[in-house]
Amino acid sequence: MALEIKILDYGDIELETSFLVLGHECGRVRRVPVYGFLILGGQYPIVVDTGYRDNAIMESLGMRGLQFHENMIENQLAKHGVKMGDVRYVVHTHLHIDHAGKDDLFPMNTTVVLNRKELECSVSGLMHPQYPQPDIKHLIDRLHTQDALRFMDLEITGHEELMPGVWCEPANAHTEGSANVIVETAEGRACICGDVIYNFNDQIVNQVRQTQYMEPQVTGNHAGSKRSEKGAIKKLLNEFDFLLPVHDKPAKIEHGRITARLEQQVPGPIVESLPRRDWFPV
Ligand SMILES: [Zn+2]
Repeated sequence: MALEIKILDYGDIELETSFLVLGHECGRVRRVPVYGFLILGGQYPIVVDTGYRDNAIMESLGMRGLQFHENMIENQLAKHGVKMGDVRYVVHTHLHIDHAGKDDLFPMNTTVVLNRKELECSVSGLMHPQYPQPDIKHLIDRLHTQDALRFMDLEITGHEELMPGVWCEPANAHTEGSANVIVETAEGRACICGDVIYNFNDQIVNQVRQTQYMEPQVTGNHAGSKRSEKGAIKKLLNEFDFLLPVHDKPAKIEHGRITARLEQQVPGPIVESLPRRDWFPV
C-alpha cells in the first residue's frame, strides 16, 4: 500500500489578516483552519502537529479558537480507524501555540519528534507568547522520560528518516527550528510545510503588495529574514508535487506553479483547478 496523508481538522482560529500576510488588511479579522496530518500506509501511523490545546489558550494571543467536539484529536484519528496509542510518532513542524497543544494526550511511548533547535527556541524567550507554558512543560517531561522524545539536528544532518518514504528537512523559515515533513506518495513527493506558507492565494498566486514577477509575499509572522522566507517558499515550489501547509488547503504543484487544490487527503480528489492565467499571471 502506498503512503497517504489524511487531513485532520482541529478547528479554526480567528486572527488579524496582517499576521498571516505581511501588511495585508491591517485590523481585519480572518478565520483560518488549523490542520494536522495523519500519514498512513507505512510501517506505522505518524501524526504531524497536534493543533491548539483549547479555545481559551488562543485568547492569550488575542486570537479566537473555534474548536468543537468533532475537532478533538482522538475523534479526528477515529475517522480513520486510528487510536491515540496506535501512533508511533508525533512529529512537529514547529512548536507554536496552534501546533503542539495535544501532545500530553498521547501515551509516553508514542515518541514526539522535534528539531532540537525548535525546543531551544521555545524556552529562549524569543517569540515568547507563541510558545505557551503547558505545552512546553509537557515536552520537558518527555525530555526526562525514556524514549518519549526524539531529537533531530536538521541544520547539520540535512534530513532524517522517520520510516521508509517519510523524512524531515530543515524549513529554514518561520521559526529558527521549523522542519518540513516529506512523504513519498504514489503521485509524487508531498511536503507538509507548517507555517512557511499561510495562504497560497495571497502569497503566491495573487501576491499581495508585490510588483515583481513571481515574487512570493512573506507571512506577517516570522523569526528570520524576509530573504530566507522568500527563498524557502520558492524552494518548496521547486521541489515538491504537493504542498500541505497547516492553515490552508493543500495545493498541487506543477513546474513550480500551483495548478489545483485538494481538501481531504493527498493524493486525493481535486476540489478546485486553477485557471491557466493564474499559473502564468500577466
Ligand atoms: Zn500556525
